[in-house]
Amino acid sequence: MKRLDEILSYNKQFVKDKRYEKYRSTSNPNKKLVILSCMDTRLTELLPKAMNIKNGDAKIVKNAGATIMHPFGSIIRSIIVAIYEFNAEDVIVVGHHGCGMSNLDTNSIMNKIVNRGVTEETIATLYNSGIDVAKWLHGFESVEESIKESVKVIKNHPLIPKDVNIHGLIIDPYTGSLEVVVNGYEP
Ligand code: ZN
Repeated sequence: MKRLDEILSYNKQFVKDKRYEKYRSTSNPNKKLVILSCMDTRLTELLPKAMNIKNGDAKIVKNAGATIMHPFGSIIRSIIVAIYEFNAEDVIVVGHHGCGMSNLDTNSIMNKIVNRGVTEETIATLYNSGIDVAKWLHGFESVEESIKESVKVIKNHPLIPKDVNIHGLIIDPYTGSLEVVVNGYEP
């Protein structure tokens, strides 16, 4: 069975058995919380369980590396919507040890891109229009520094109100243990 068909067939049974009932909640986060984290597969269930987050508790925004690429990109946009529309009062950036975006080998990705049929010409055209693909794909050297940087970007953003607390944590992707990098309640 193809992956999508597998999902759809499972889904029919899920809905039929009303297994959704225990997940019912509103779209306003009960804990007035927005979390920015990484798309790492090990964190899918571990992160909410380790932080005691259930359906309805928090807005969770994810991408590769829990990084903010641009102060007016989709991550900040989501955080702003969570604050103003859904009353989030705390923002927590949660990076993790062993992140794929840490010391990412951009040369290797560039080779894979070309091997999958994207021409060097396309990459050159992007470069000439201001997009250095390798640079754009680059992650970070230190997860701690990356988290501090993200906290700083959110904290100093002109559209983020000063009464919101911005925290930075590192989660262990094996044990779920949390380490505080930035405590937003401290001045
Ligand atoms: Zn990661």
